[in-house]
Amino acid sequence: MQTVTLNNGIEMPLLGFGVYQIPPEKTEQAVTDALAVGYRLLDTAAAYGNEGAVGRAIEKSGIPRAELFVTTKLWIQDAQAEENTRRAFETSLTELGLDHVDLYLMHQPYGDVYGQWRAMEALNREGLARAIGVANFYPDRLLDLILNNEITPAVNQIETHPFFQRTADHDLMREHGVQHQSWGGFAEGKNDLFTHPVLSEIGRAHDKSAAQVVLRWLIQRSIVTIPKSVSPDRMAQNFDVFGFALTDAQMARIADLETGTTLFFDHHDPEMVAWLSKRRLGS
Ligand code: NAP
Repeated sequence: MQTVTLNNGIEMPLLGFGVYQIPPEKTEQAVTDALAVGYRLLDTAAAYGNEGAVGRAIEKSGIPRAELFVTTKLWIQDAQAEENTRRAFETSLTELGLDHVDLYLMHQPYGDVYGQWRAMEALNREGLARAIGVANFYPDRLLDLILNNEITPAVNQIETHPFFQRTADHDLMREHGVQHQSWGGFAEGKNDLFTHPVLSEIGRAHDKSAAQVVLRWLIQRSIVTIPKSVSPDRMAQNFDVFGFALTDAQMARIADLETGTTLFFDHHDPEMVAWLSKRRLGS
């Protein structure tokens, strides 16, 4: 598996497995299948409600801990963020049955972001989170966080797919040593991604599917990607993206699919801020 080196020197696989929207009762089997296919990077979150199932699959797999790269995420904390962040982290660790995570992400750029980040910096210094980062941070908030804190996020996990490519975000992250990670790499199938004529045509030239073309396009941009699937066949297909390369002309054709807008959440939309901020996990 190809890796990227994060800004604190640790290695992160370029391709992993995401478990968002997999019901807890199906997650243990899905992660077991993904580990059998060869995935070693697992991406969960307190907000997904399936950390426990991820932990059980890890334990049963018998795969040495050092071979795995486990990411989980902190949900929004407001008052007493420093104390609550530590408590939320400990809950996640207990759920996962682990003594450390490889990457701990702030899930949303809301709440007491600075209190949360200070607590995450402490977890990182103590070795409980080998790397810390953020998710859903647009360039303005990301730069502010970088400029006003000691530790620069190792990763920013943001919506990135052929219809919302994030090139300006990517350039800013590169400039500041923040690894770009894609969520929703398939746009969850929106805009008929899996049968899209341009992606399918490029795929035919390599005897690959549109899905594999998308993952290859992300990897060639050095973007870490974490496709989700509950199907072992599709997990295997999504893992088989290292044996071919897109040409510059094919990369350029995909670049033309940019729509310049999110297909999911606008993190600048006040209604979305209110909706996400209302959710409390009770940890
Ligand atoms: P995604 O990976 O873009 O798409 C998943 C969908 O694609 C599922 O419906 C899956 O169906 C289908 N699929 C997977 N492989 C396929 C293939 N080869 N051919 C056809 N269909 C295929 O969506 P996502 O789960 O939203 O994003 C990926 C991960 O990013 C998440 O699991 C999560 O870990 C992370 N994420 C993070 C955030 C954040 O705020 N930080 C937000 C969203 C997601 P089947 O399962 O039936 O195969």
